[in-house]
Amino acid sequence: MNQAEISIQRFSIAVAWGLSILITVMVPAIYFFISYQHLRSELVVQSVLSANDVTNLVRSNPTLWRYEDLRISEMLEQRSRRTVAESIVIYNTNREVIASNTAVVPPVHIGQKQDIYDAGVVVASIEIYRTLDPLLFSTLLVTLCSAAIAAVIFFTLRTLPRRSIKKAYQALCEKRKKYRSLHESMKEGMAEHRVTFANNGELESFTIIETNSSCTDMFGCHRQDLVGSDSLTQFGASFREYLSELLRVFEHGNSITFELALPERGAYYTTTAYSQSPGIITTLFEDITERKKSEQQIKKMAYSDQLTTLPNRALLLDRLNQAVANATQNCSTLAVFLLDLDRFKIFNDTMGRATGDQLLIEVGRRLQRQIRCSDTLARMGGDEFCFVAINTGKELNATYVAQKFMDSMLPPFWIGSNELHVTSSIGIAVFPDDGSDAETLIKSAELAMYSAKEAGRNRYNFYSPEMNLKAHTRMKLENGMRNALEHGEFFLEFQPIMDAGTRTITAAEALVRWNHPSRGRIPPNEFIPLAEETGLILPLGEWILRTVCRSMKTWNDAGLPQIRLSVNVSSRQIEQQNFAEIVRKALHATGANAAQLEIELTESCLVNHASTNLAEVFDLRSLGISIAIDDFGTGYSSLGYIKTLPIDHIKIDRSFVTDISSNIQDQAIVEAIITMSQKLGIQNIAEGVETLEQLEFLQSLRCDEIQGYYFHRPLSAEALVTLLRAQV
Ligand code: C2E
Ligand code: CA
Ligand code: CA
Repeated sequence: MNQAEISIQRFSIAVAWGLSILITVMVPAIYFFISYQHLRSELVVQSVLSANDVTNLVRSNPTLWRYEDLRISEMLEQRSRRTVAESIVIYNTNREVIASNTAVVPPVHIGQKQDIYDAGVVVASIEIYRTLDPLLFSTLLVTLCSAAIAAVIFFTLRTLPRRSIKKAYQALCEKRKKYRSLHESMKEGMAEHRVTFANNGELESFTIIETNSSCTDMFGCHRQDLVGSDSLTQFGASFREYLSELLRVFEHGNSITFELALPERGAYYTTTAYSQSPGIITTLFEDITERKKSEQQIKKMAYSDQLTTLPNRALLLDRLNQAVANATQNCSTLAVFLLDLDRFKIFNDTMGRATGDQLLIEVGRRLQRQIRCSDTLARMGGDEFCFVAINTGKELNATYVAQKFMDSMLPPFWIGSNELHVTSSIGIAVFPDDGSDAETLIKSAELAMYSAKEAGRNRYNFYSPEMNLKAHTRMKLENGMRNALEHGEFFLEFQPIMDAGTRTITAAEALVRWNHPSRGRIPPNEFIPLAEETGLILPLGEWILRTVCRSMKTWNDAGLPQIRLSVNVSSRQIEQQNFAEIVRKALHATGANAAQLEIELTESCLVNHASTNLAEVFDLRSLGISIAIDDFGTGYSSLGYIKTLPIDHIKIDRSFVTDISSNIQDQAIVEAIITMSQKLGIQNIAEGVETLEQLEFLQSLRCDEIQGYYFHRPLSAEALVTLLRAQV
């Protein structure tokens, strides 16, 4: 029993005592008092009546009435009550008994006196005495009854509060039990937390004090693991995020609901927190993991194409918008490619929808292989695919990308036992020229794609006419170049390189030419970069090398002076081919003299001078082959390679020679190059010498060899042979 219960108990006992005593005393007392008064008034009436009777007698016989004691006694006898002990006595003025009834005056009685008059003079008095025994007896009975009632009241009052407390406590227990069983039967997880604060108002602890079985099931642990543990640690970072909101439930009394994520369990819960008593927060958890997963699945489905699993139009638009925003910010460009399969409807109609679907899947796979994983390729619906190429810094080469897509379609598709040859038409729109937002860019690419279809399919088409023209020319050139080698449209010219002192031909640089069937001669500056980009430089370079070796062998056999023949080699040839092996094979196949062969490499080739491919090229020097650095001074600023690599010739770039007579800076550069090469024991060649002044200046610096129009332009093989013959 606690203090409050004890005080309630004491108070109720005191009240019970008071009330019981009051009832026991007051009820009989009141009863006695009222009954006594009633008795007295009865006696008064009786004495008055009796006195009246005697008075009448006295009046009728004023002198002798005293002697009629018998008659008076009889009258008194009649007047007296028979049921109770009552005596009636008549006294004369001397208090002598004149008459009385037979009863004896009871020991405990009540008396009443009444005077008897005769002519206004008191002649006697009548006194009536009645016993109080019946009254006392009935009062005793009433007292007993009151005491009994008081006892009942006493016991009732004394135990009533105690019983009500007990009842209330039992009700509370019952309620708690129900509450617990309710919590236990709940499918929501329930956790109660005790929150305490330090004196400065800061959070001190947030502890789990109770959980239900759903909660332990949800979080996959035992009740003892949860109860007593720190809530903020148990329920992770996501719970901590909502701490300030959680604590506010104490202030406003409302509940809060938030989503709790436990990434390590891959689980999500809708969490409702409320407070019903101070310092206690109850949280209810509803497991929504499944719903969340299906939401994600739906989202995935909403953003991906069911057939190919590629992103769909919605996702592409989203990413394109993002890309446009980035490109605007970085002032860069991007291109949208819309690819549509040619005559897809025919495949679908003739081979069936299933084959058509399979074909779309395969096309999606092939296209996907052509792109970087950071780029977005989407299926827009039907047989239409869209690709967004983001400019990565260098100039965006949309033509190259489009060609890659077209090329990827070249090998036939095998669907079941069917061999399908598929071509596509591509429309290209470039940001910002052809549209400043995603929708417009796609529309532009669509229009460009339709023009590609109209122009005969199996091609790509830019939205803007200038780009189209450029791409068209390029495409034509590229396509022409593919056949040029087979058709023998390439040929070589040789530009003599003269000894600066003796002015005799010591070498000749082989320069490739393309005799285009319709356009005529195309300069190498136009087609070499394209050949490098498309990879055509590999077979072309090999052809040049073999042709030079073959010419060398022929000229040597003809007894011409054995001059050096230099061949330009592009960096792509070194990077992608076993070039040294190709050179060996060419020498071997033609029987050319390795000592007469020179390879011209540009500085860009030497950047990666630790590469094994380059080392193998330099190993060729063991066969007698020499190596020249072309366009020296225009490439990389680092000259470290000059000391480490065994270089035979440095070719001073034409740009320094052109103004050498007038420009002091160029003079200084050329002088420095020549001095440096002399110190390193490397021969130097000046390119692009056109005038006598240039020649004389170079001679004054003791330049070793001279190449340029001053002596000779690039010559046909025959013209070179004639010159060489003259030199014999
Ligand atoms: P390059 O290797 O620097 O070739 C020298 C270029 O300078 C040649 O132009 C030549 O005609 C030109 N030239 C020579 N002397 C003079 C002169 O006095 N004045 C002027 N204005 N020009 C002179 P070309 O033949 O048009 O070749 C241009 C570039 O094409 C070459 O520059 C080379 O980088 C590339 N190229 C030419 N043939 C081949 C080849 O067979 N293979 C490779 N990979 N590249 C080649
Ligand atoms: Ca060259
Ligand atoms: Ca050059």
